[in-house]
Amino acid sequence: MRCPFCRHSDSRVVDSREVDDGQVIRRRRSCSKCSRRFTTVEEAVLAVVKRSGVTEPFSRDKVITGVRRACQGRPVDEDQLQLLAQKVEETIRATGSAEIPSHEVGLAILGPLRELDGVAYLRFASVYRAFSSVEDFEKEIADLRAAMAGEAKTDDD
Ligand SMILES: [Zn+2]
Repeated sequence: MRCPFCRHSDSRVVDSREVDDGQVIRRRRSCSKCSRRFTTVEEAVLAVVKRSGVTEPFSRDKVITGVRRACQGRPVDEDQLQLLAQKVEETIRATGSAEIPSHEVGLAILGPLRELDGVAYLRFASVYRAFSSVEDFEKEIADLRAAMAGEAKTDDD
């Protein structure tokens, strides 16, 4: 981190403090050449690696945008979308990896979306898993039915 005054590349940390539950670290630095002080901010970013190799910060909004499209005309409200995005983020953070391939974000969406709305799930899965035939849908629907039956059973117990 270069000194903003003299552009010297070496500085000494005089104070560090965590902000936002440790998500962000602010450092007070002193330039080893001109001795002037400046602040740097380091943020731990959860990055999504796209198929092209480009990384971008994980964004709940992007998750919501993708899922909202699949939920068109379905009885899913904004609060439920927010909650889904939160679950997706928790799943991704739980992997303990700072860089997540974008397809894993898709995978993390499928579970909670299936619980939320079967039709929206099928729409999303058809795009995400690139369904190419009616049989793909049939198989997915069979799996969905089996999962729903399983959930119904556990509810009865
Ligand atoms: Zn300096």
